[in-house]
Amino acid sequence: MTTIYLTTLGCRLNEAETSRWAREFQNEGHAIARAPEEAEVIVLNSCAVTTEAARKSRQVIHRLHRQNPGAHLVVAGCYAELEPAQVAALTGVDLVVGNQEKEALPRRMAATFDLHAMPALAARPGGAHMVAGSRTRAFVKVQDGCRNHCTFCIVTIARGAERSRSLAEVTAEINALHAAGYQEAVLTGVHLGGYGSDLGVDLATLVEHLLRHTDIPRLRLSSLEPWDLPEGFFGLWQHPRLMPHLHLPLQAGCDATLRRMARRCTTARYAALVDQARAAIPHLTLTTDLIVGFPGESEAEWAQTAAFVEALGFAHIHIFTFSARQGTAASRMRGQVPGEIKRQRSQQMHAIAARQKAAHLAQFVGATRPVLWESGADQADGDVQWSGYTDNYLRVVALAPAGLDLQNRITPAYLTAPSGPPADRLHGVFPFPTLTLTQTAHE
Ligand code: SF4
Repeated sequence: MTTIYLTTLGCRLNEAETSRWAREFQNEGHAIARAPEEAEVIVLNSCAVTTEAARKSRQVIHRLHRQNPGAHLVVAGCYAELEPAQVAALTGVDLVVGNQEKEALPRRMAATFDLHAMPALAARPGGAHMVAGSRTRAFVKVQDGCRNHCTFCIVTIARGAERSRSLAEVTAEINALHAAGYQEAVLTGVHLGGYGSDLGVDLATLVEHLLRHTDIPRLRLSSLEPWDLPEGFFGLWQHPRLMPHLHLPLQAGCDATLRRMARRCTTARYAALVDQARAAIPHLTLTTDLIVGFPGESEAEWAQTAAFVEALGFAHIHIFTFSARQGTAASRMRGQVPGEIKRQRSQQMHAIAARQKAAHLAQFVGATRPVLWESGADQADGDVQWSGYTDNYLRVVALAPAGLDLQNRITPAYLTAPSGPPADRLHGVFPFPTLTLTQTAHE
């Protein structure tokens, strides 16, 4: 048995890949270490989405080697894909695995190192194991690569052409995860909307197939570009196991800025899509990504973006201050916005986002929604404060008597306003005597 330590930087897709490698290694009878010091082989799934992310990846490589110089060190992911020679030259690195070979990482390691496998005693039918970390929600990679060329994005360069996992493969993984106790699967990819472009099917086909051939209580979609969505796509949300939460990256609320970003969307089309989604999906939580300070973003363009966001309203906005990523078209563009201006626009957008989040949460005060409880923290008075997410991705905390294990359980919760900071969550009250919880939750 070889002891392997896995660590991830970057996106949900990287997390999904690392979790799958962990399950594969365990199926082969290897052990997953909880710390680099305990491992014979260390694997880093790296990120290089920004220059800063690439620098962080280098830093982590140095730290991992320092923590355990005797272990083999494998570097995979976007930093390894974009700078293979640079990575291979870093002290302690024994194997560099690019994005095109990621699926085969366990086999590459077996071919490179003497991985002495134990008989897969620990393996259970279906081969999914509970690995370290969250045991409630699993990120499931369904596709990789992207055909688009947004000018700020290095991912499309690092991840290559679109390729999809088969319906059967994704279904089998989700059923195995459910058998291992996971309550929620989050479908993730580089360009999720491009799912099936190489298989002659589309994302709607996949979601329908999963709703029919899996029983996991919750299916959620991760980030979804606001184009390439099949006709009638939002009709799928009539199914109660599809979670009413959409993350549709906007990036800018001004058509001139969107054109320089080479986004395949206009503000009018984005607004129309949001209207369709809100009409079709009750209790929808809409979140987005927004870049402030994109090259050439004048005061007038910025004002349009702020007004568009104000008009649409989002439950959460991931706000990114533009930083020129070497290797992207945007990094070579004229009109780079001064740092102080970017900082002011970021501050302004954070204020808008905080108001909109509070307004969205307020809509659900007094409602009862199902919550998947993820973690509990002991309180001084002996109670436990549980934290989890509703179906429509609202963060909820609730107090329950000690001894009541809510971990990984889905229960209804009556939602009340937060009684103080932080204001990014609601308080939950169990609309039934908690003592009955032991019987009711799974029925
Ligand atoms: S759609 Fe654009 S931002 Fe998204 S991965 Fe593709 S190129 Fe990058």
